[in-house]
Amino acid sequence: MWGGPRVGRRSDLAAVGSALKTLRPSGLSPSGRRGPIGDVIDGRRIADEVRADLRPRLDRLRESGTVPGLAAILVGDNPASRLYVRMKGKACEEMGMAHWTLELPVDVAEPKLLGEIRRLNRDPKVHGILVQQPLPSPIRTPEAVAAVDPMKDVDCFHPENVGLVLIGTPRFAPATPAGVVELLVRSGNPPDGKDVVIVGRSNIVGKPLAALLVQKARGANATVTVTHSATRALAEHTRRADILISAAGSPGSITADMVRDGAVVIDVGINRVADPNAKGGFRTVGDVDFDPVRRKARAITPVPGGVGPMTIAMLLSNTVRAAESTASH
Ligand code: NAD
Repeated sequence: MWGGPRVGRRSDLAAVGSALKTLRPSGLSPSGRRGPIGDVIDGRRIADEVRADLRPRLDRLRESGTVPGLAAILVGDNPASRLYVRMKGKACEEMGMAHWTLELPVDVAEPKLLGEIRRLNRDPKVHGILVQQPLPSPIRTPEAVAAVDPMKDVDCFHPENVGLVLIGTPRFAPATPAGVVELLVRSGNPPDGKDVVIVGRSNIVGKPLAALLVQKARGANATVTVTHSATRALAEHTRRADILISAAGSPGSITADMVRDGAVVIDVGINRVADPNAKGGFRTVGDVDFDPVRRKARAITPVPGGVGPMTIAMLLSNTVRAAESTASH
């Protein structure tokens, strides 16, 4: 819904709400029956919808001779970062988009990294650039983020783009927060007028998500509380939430006693926990104690298969948008 090359207009925010027309009545399962336990919001299916919406735009770009291209920079050998970059590349391939991964050693000097970012800034085949985080020290993440051309900053981490989101005239939507908004709207749980409580205040999830949800626009218009590691009596906040969004990055952070009956629960967390029965000796879980919380919730996202696929879909959407704005100049 953050699609289209309409740079810096309030209608970008309002466009989130246009998804409403595709929704089933809230609280009903796809079969139209309200179940005794919360609906599971299928992030893969909704991400497929977002991708399907991109196809005609990709066709139009192709007709005008433009293939959107995404370049990822991977520094070091963090296995999770490697996996995420591979997934993003695969998603580009599936959509017929170009992608490149530039791998740099863990001890790469910061000037070398910044030089590579500037080279990609100048490359007309590259419409989107992402610098996979976390970056190893002593590289300064803010320097790397600020080196990306704001017009190619499809992660929406550049201070200029963060500012545009905050004042309600986004150029790009920050991928994970925008994915959460899309999940809410397209699953029939729009945030408008709701009490939303976010657990986590990072620059990647918590803060930009609050900035999206608080805007005066359809698909936003929420009353937002951002909680964090210094919040006293966290459960007193979470229990007030119509929509509870956890991005704490710690398994078991949200237990059933912290959730109000009938709340919508969005789990952004991606955590690896040891499991001798699982392939590789670990499995991936979110922050939320899924089964007990589901019994109280009206709807809940799973991990995996919830917010994760949406993040990738929104990144593709931003890359298409970046290519459209280049093609229109
Ligand atoms: P982060 O470590 O930068 O931030 C975590 C935040 O949670 C901090 O602001 C901290 O204050 C807060 N927090 C931690 N424990 C808390 C507690 N007990 N009570 C209240 N607040 C607490 O992490 P991040 O980059 O924001 O990522 C958060 C989680 O989301 C991670 O598990 C990460 O892997 C995941 N993530 C998922 C996606 C996705 O696409 N699904 C994208 C980005 C991040």
